[in-house]
Amino acid sequence: MLNENVVKLLNQQINEEFYSAYLYLDFSNYYYDQGLAGFGNWYKIQAQEERDHAMLFLRYLQNNGGRVVLEAVAKPDVDLVSAKAILAEGLKHEQYVTSLIHTIYDAAYSVKDFRTMQFLDWFVKEQGEEENNADTLIKKFELFGDDPKSLYMLDSELGARVYAAPSLVL
Ligand code: MG
Repeated sequence: MLNENVVKLLNQQINEEFYSAYLYLDFSNYYYDQGLAGFGNWYKIQAQEERDHAMLFLRYLQNNGGRVVLEAVAKPDVDLVSAKAILAEGLKHEQYVTSLIHTIYDAAYSVKDFRTMQFLDWFVKEQGEEENNADTLIKKFELFGDDPKSLYMLDSELGARVYAAPSLVL
C-alpha cells in the first residue's frame, strides 16, 4: 500500500499536470491569435504532453491501490502580455513543476517508497528536458525575435514539431 501523504501528493500532481495542459493551451491560443502558428503548434503539443503526464500519474495510482480523486482545474492565471513574455512564464512554470516532482520524491524517499521513487525518476529527467526546452526557446527568441524574417523562420521551425507519446509506459 502506498503511504497516505504520497497518495495525496500524487493526486495533487494529476491536477497540476492538467493545469499545465490548460495553461499551455492558453499560450497556444494566444500565439495562433497573433499569427504565430508555429509557436501555437509547439505549445499545443506541449499541452498534449501535459495531459499524458496527468494520465501517467493517474494510472500509477490505479496500478498501486491508490484512490484517484479529481479536483477542479483552475483557470490559467498568466497574463498573456507578449509572445516573448509568455516564453519566460513557460520556463517559470516548468521550474515550479520540477519543485513539485521533487517534493513528491522527497515524501516517497522519507517512507522508503522505492517503487514511487523509481516511477518518479522518469519525471525528474523529463523536467530537466522541459526546462532546457523552455530556456532554449527564450534564447532563440532573444536572438531572432526582433527580426521579422528570422521570426518567420523560427515560427516555421516550431511548426514542424510533431506529437510523440511519452517514452514511459505503465
Ligand atoms: Mg508535465
